[in-house]
Amino acid sequence: GEALAVSARVAPLGSRLVLLLVEDLTEARRIEAVRRDFVANVSHELKTPVGALSLLSEAVMDASDDPEAVTRFAGRMQIEATRLTNLVQELIDLSRVQNDDPLEDAEPVRVDELVAEAIDRSRHTASTKQITMAVGGTSRGDGTGGGAVGLHVWGNRGQLAAALGNLVENAVNYSPARTRVGIAARRVTAPGGDQIEIAVTDQGIGISEKDRERIFERFYRVDPARSRATGGTGLGLAIVKHVAASHGGEVTVWSTEGQGSTFTLRLPEAGSVRDRTQVRGGDR
Ligand code: ADP
Repeated sequence: GEALAVSARVAPLGSRLVLLLVEDLTEARRIEAVRRDFVANVSHELKTPVGALSLLSEAVMDASDDPEAVTRFAGRMQIEATRLTNLVQELIDLSRVQNDDPLEDAEPVRVDELVAEAIDRSRHTASTKQITMAVGGTSRGDGTGGGAVGLHVWGNRGQLAAALGNLVENAVNYSPARTRVGIAARRVTAPGGDQIEIAVTDQGIGISEKDRERIFERFYRVDPARSRATGGTGLGLAIVKHVAASHGGEVTVWSTEGQGSTFTLRLPEAGSVRDRTQVRGGDR
């Protein structure tokens, strides 16, 4: 009787174990496939500018008796070299946010400073396109102090600046001239501790529902040619997603095609992070 009872208890346990193992294997295969895709993508993305540089340098040598052509080719070489530098820099940034624990040197970070830095980073492109950047939102809850003053998030300063900088950069890049980019910050009350929401709103081209599911993937771009033309690498939103997740936050997108998009970064408020161990790394 007892043996039967035991085996009856063990049998379902056994099949659950087998199921777990199978699931584990499937997950391992998936991770391996993602890694292989990533390496293939990186190789392809590197090959494009390197190939162009090699062709252009040949063209320069062939045109040595035509100074005008040499200048033209050299200009294009510079563009390709910049593209290559951007890509390598973003790859380094991505690997940093994936591998470093951002909370090792976490500190309270002023939201108004993050916002100012992000705006600064896109100021040049924005002014070329006559795009207005406006800061709004509530601060201390009493509506004073315009925008993000008085709010602090908890985290790694450099990573948070990179994340917000990317969102503002995209808003400017994917918007037509003479539109407005708004950045608003506010505190939201949540059961696990108060959080800060930073929303970046543009009046740009928008993103279809189908694409909204994929834009946070590494190298995914709705329009690769348009992305490349603005110096995009397809890695920006993957970096933002990682930073948000590893800080115990989240990034979400709301968009209407042809009208604009809002990207919202939600992060734990400094001071309301009661138990730091609750904030764990994102999907690595
Ligand atoms: P990229 O370097 O191409 O900008 P990202 O990872 O930052 O790469 O973004 C991925 C893609 O998501 C972009 O190529 C673009 O198609 C789309 N996208 C991102 N932000 C916006 C936005 N604010 N408006 C419209 N499309 C956007």
